[in-house]
Amino acid sequence: MPSPDRSVDVVVVGAGPAGAAAATTLARAGREVLVVDKATFPRDKICGDGLTTAALRELERLGLDPSTVASWVDVDAVLVRSPSGRQVSFPLPSGEGRFAAVARRRDLDERLVALARHAGATCLEGHALSGAEATADGVVVQVEGVGAVRAGWAVGADGMWSPLRRALGLADPTYRGEWHAFRQYFSDVSDAASRQLVVWFEADLLPGYAWSFPLAGGSANVGFGILRGSSYKVADMGALWRELLVRPHIRDFLGATARPEGPHRAWPIPARVDRVALTGPRTLFVGDAAAATDPMTGEGIGQALATGRWAAEAILAAHDPELVRSTYERRVRHELTVDHRLAERLAGVLRHPLGARGAVRLAGATAWTRRNFARWLFEDYPRALLLTPSRWHRDMLTEPGAYR
Ligand SMILES: Cc1cc2nc3c(=O)[nH]c(=O)nc-3n(C[C@H](O)[C@H](O)[C@H](O)COP(=O)(O)OP(=O)(O)OC[C@H]3O[C@@H](n4cnc5c(N)ncnc54)[C@H](O)[C@@H]3O)c2cc1C
Repeated sequence: MPSPDRSVDVVVVGAGPAGAAAATTLARAGREVLVVDKATFPRDKICGDGLTTAALRELERLGLDPSTVASWVDVDAVLVRSPSGRQVSFPLPSGEGRFAAVARRRDLDERLVALARHAGATCLEGHALSGAEATADGVVVQVEGVGAVRAGWAVGADGMWSPLRRALGLADPTYRGEWHAFRQYFSDVSDAASRQLVVWFEADLLPGYAWSFPLAGGSANVGFGILRGSSYKVADMGALWRELLVRPHIRDFLGATARPEGPHRAWPIPARVDRVALTGPRTLFVGDAAAATDPMTGEGIGQALATGRWAAEAILAAHDPELVRSTYERRVRHELTVDHRLAERLAGVLRHPLGARGAVRLAGATAWTRRNFARWLFEDYPRALLLTPSRWHRDMLTEPGAYR
């Protein structure tokens, strides 16, 4: 690698939610931050676009104003259909802030990059990382169109395939993600689909599910995800998608006038935060690059924002490189690992139609269970909160939502 012609405190690779959160936090604290992303924003990211309470709290903390995100829609309930056809509506608290929302990633991520820039980070769009090498006192990254850049720290926020992880020799070349998911946008959907967020537990997809998430302007984000190694293969998903869209309850919900905005697109979802290297020499991995999505739902935006912030806070808190790494690793273990393992076990229950039916029945039993299930599903509090007394606090089950 040629000698670097540029030097910064931290280079952040990837400007999705994880990278933007890390860059904004570091730049606000006065660090010189360079963000590189191979894409030019606004860019699409294959996603369900659903924002959980945890994600909303992180966005609020970053200072994101929802009114600047064109496709943003607040959600006040989730409709769940069990494999038996039983439908239950789970309400989120009203008048106490926002607990769930949907926003196209094209719109959301562009605003997050703007926040990072506003905080003082230099964001280079359309410049891909092509190589990286750890040195005695930092890391040197190779960036297309820029050349070699030296940094005290690298934050790997470059998604599922993390080229930084590969460049540092820390990737498993056989890894393809735990889940694989399809997404397609539809316009002119029914009135119900333009307002309601629905999750369909289809018996043949379990523990996977299909969804329709409402977006501004009469559109919806529709998709489905399957666990690798479940009854369908990833290669079957195209045919399965066409067949799912004509299942009567899905077709009727989307409405007769619904039309696709473009082709469906697919992407893997990594959910093994407890089994990947979270750090490398002078490097911290965040978001999908740290496989941090929820193994039961595949939600990962909140985890990406949080891990990005924690990585930045670890860099800001310590000077000794080993302490920075261990501080970040401990934080991720403390905040995510128990929840991750519980969610994995629950996904095991949802594998069987009887388990999924039982779960929907139990969650829908009373007004109290319905309300609390919705809050738990949308990560208002950590999945395994009740099992981890070290995280208990007075208002843990009654906290308001974000943006009150
Ligand atoms: C179909 C589907 C539906 C989903 N639905 C939801 C949902 O509803 N809610 C939810 O919370 N989560 C959902 N997820 C998960 C969510 O999309 C991810 O967890 C989230 O995007 C992770 O954010 P990130 O910042 O880590 O990575 P990304 O958002 O993937 O950002 C990575 C960035 O790195 C850049 N990059 C890649 N390679 C390079 C390179 N060589 N050089 C420079 N930059 C590079 C990319 O251009 C990209 O901008 C879904 C995922 C899928 C696939």
